[in-house]
Amino acid sequence: MSVLDLARPEIRTLQPYSSARMEAGGGAVMLNANESAWPPFGADDSALNRYPEPQPAALIGRLAQLYGVRREQVLAGRGSDEAIDLLMRAFCRAGRDAILISPPTFGMYAVCARIQGADVIEVPLREDFTLDVQAMLAAATPAVKLVLVCTPNNPTGQATTHADIERLTRAVADRAIVVVDEAYVEFADPECGGSVAPLIARYGNLAVLRTLSKAYALAGVRIGVLLAAPEIIGLLRRIMSPYPLPAPCIEGALRVLSPQGLAIAARRIAIIRSERERVRNALSQLPGVLAVLPSQANFLTLRCDDVDEVQRCLLAHSIIVRDVRGHPRLGDALRITLGTPQQNDCVLAALAGVPV
Ligand SMILES: *Cc1c(COP(=O)(O)O)cnc(C)c1O
Repeated sequence: MSVLDLARPEIRTLQPYSSARMEAGGGAVMLNANESAWPPFGADDSALNRYPEPQPAALIGRLAQLYGVRREQVLAGRGSDEAIDLLMRAFCRAGRDAILISPPTFGMYAVCARIQGADVIEVPLREDFTLDVQAMLAAATPAVKLVLVCTPNNPTGQATTHADIERLTRAVADRAIVVVDEAYVEFADPECGGSVAPLIARYGNLAVLRTLSKAYALAGVRIGVLLAAPEIIGLLRRIMSPYPLPAPCIEGALRVLSPQGLAIAARRIAIIRSERERVRNALSQLPGVLAVLPSQANFLTLRCDDVDEVQRCLLAHSIIVRDVRGHPRLGDALRITLGTPQQNDCVLAALAGVPV
């Protein structure tokens, strides 16, 4: 069977909108898209009066190279958030289908599913916050079309093994797509095995989410990427808006994905990784900190005696962190993003009770 058999029938047969940009490429005089013939006031030569390429060839090529896949396996959209939403819309019939998630995890999965009218089946992570594959398989009813695995997981920070992902993917083949959200994978230890993107060639029902928002410092540019079988990429392009990526964002991403930009990103990832070790050790020794969860990401989640008091203490130093007490089994926890070494020192000083 094809993975497309899992999609909503009305999406499979949809006649998609065909934009002017899709129908015709480059000519000398472009009078086909009702664009302004003049660049806007104050613009340089970046052709802002023209609609951007729907999936810019240069960017898609660069992303395929970066993630080690073929261009046909890449979809670039407005953040991973858009890819998550497109997957729900393409594969989940309202009132009938479901997604499977393992809380505590990223909140967008359940929100997007509920907007689409899909049911959300929850199989909690184990006590040590690892994935309970056995329980997930037991809960994967025929209604489940998407299984979402966040690794390293937000907000707990731990990574899932490739073996567990492969086991899950094989077990639900022909029934569901396993979507692995690797927003933080660049920060993980090499022993975690890196990205599962190379496995999409082997498993037609495996999809991988990547983002430029974290390790590549481009949260403001809103570019997220889905890596999956060309059939899935093609299907989602049918329901995606015709010109998802703004021209200045494409330019910004290409700059950061240049050899020089990648070298800078690599240095910053190394800083975050060493800060993670240093700050975790220092936090663990503070009174009032019960535990710091091991993390493969660019944040540390800690359990505290008194979360309100810790937050007050940080706020007195003008430091804002994320309250994650709303998540199951994290009723005493805070998530702190790793900053520059100086910023991290401020956090440690604030929590050690150093006066403002
Ligand atoms: C930050 C984050 C993303 C990235 O989202 P974008 O829309 O690409 O900025 C994706 N997944 C998880 C789990 C995240 O924490």
